[in-house]
Amino acid sequence: MEEERPNYVSELLISGDWNTPLLQSLFTQWECKEISKIPLAMFDAEDCWTWHFSKSGNFTVRKAYYVANVWSAGVSPKVRNFGWRAIHGGLTVRATLVKRNVCEDARCQLCGEADEDVTHLLMRCSEVKRIWYVCPLRLQINMHTMQSFKDWCVSMLKVNKDKNWWNLFWAICWGIWMRRNMWVFEQKRREEMDLVHRAMSMVNDYERANDREAIEMDDSCLKSRWSPPIMGHYKINVDAAIFKETGVGMGAVVCDSIGEVIAAMVSLRKGDYAVDIAEAMAARFALKIVWKSGLRSVILETDNLKLFQHLKKAKVEASAFGIVVKDILQLATLCTSCSFSHVRRKGNQVAHKLAKLSKDCNEERIWIEELPEQLYHLVSDDLLE
Ligand SMILES: [Zn+2]
Repeated sequence: MEEERPNYVSELLISGDWNTPLLQSLFTQWECKEISKIPLAMFDAEDCWTWHFSKSGNFTVRKAYYVANVWSAGVSPKVRNFGWRAIHGGLTVRATLVKRNVCEDARCQLCGEADEDVTHLLMRCSEVKRIWYVCPLRLQINMHTMQSFKDWCVSMLKVNKDKNWWNLFWAICWGIWMRRNMWVFEQKRREEMDLVHRAMSMVNDYERANDREAIEMDDSCLKSRWSPPIMGHYKINVDAAIFKETGVGMGAVVCDSIGEVIAAMVSLRKGDYAVDIAEAMAARFALKIVWKSGLRSVILETDNLKLFQHLKKAKVEASAFGIVVKDILQLATLCTSCSFSHVRRKGNQVAHKLAKLSKDCNEERIWIEELPEQLYHLVSDDLLE
């Protein structure tokens, strides 16, 4: 059995995405869910992500725990990044500086009682113990004297999976680090309760900002009219149609800033796909052709809200839908400029009709600077409105 264990994260992936059946055979359901939320690009960038499995497999499971936890926390990216560094020994604490021969004294500047490593900094320092106790999490560090910061996180994760709890946890860790830096670099001391209040409002602010974004997203959904892109950009409207017997019809139309049709395209793909996946496939199909044709400043417009939201937030879920979304996002990075837009169905008529039309075209078809005759009236409707 031992040799069947993967040695590297890459072995947990299939076609650039998580190998869900394999994950399920190695981790619990909750762990799989958390792991699948980890952005995969991270693994390409970080050498340390040659993630060795120990004989028991425990090491990996533990790592998966806290890695997933910190990357899915509802705190700002800078705090997540800090949490990630804290876990991976990437914080420049005194002990690290001594190792690098940058300074000679590894002692904690706040208490002077012990060397400053990550565990002391975030957990054992007498100043920090009080913070953990007075904050709403009410943590008693003395019960965990033998543990490192990592082990402490893991042991809490086993009993505590509440997201809000962890958001505050990471916000306080960040606050402790900021407080330490203020003392070391500016000789200013921040009160413990001040730190706790700041952490709490940080979590609230982040939540509120996210809610606001969701509301703004809803507003954009009210857009029901097609509008031309700004000068120098091309708008690609995409849509899919599902034909019970034959498969998925994909249609797209490309227009310039004065509303002239640059190209129209259709394609028929065999297979039984869910609506969201079909819509994503249509977007991928169109963006690929447009990119190949050399247009590099584009706006990809869909009437599918889920697709729009995932593209806008660059959210790639571990699913068939996620795989297609990821392809689109990758194609987008190859463009000089590629943004995403949502329009109601009414404003996506031409792409909609093209998708339907694909039923009669057995394969891919592209019209350059023209449209199938029967669709012209739709384009002029759009411009007249
Ligand atoms: Zn200390």
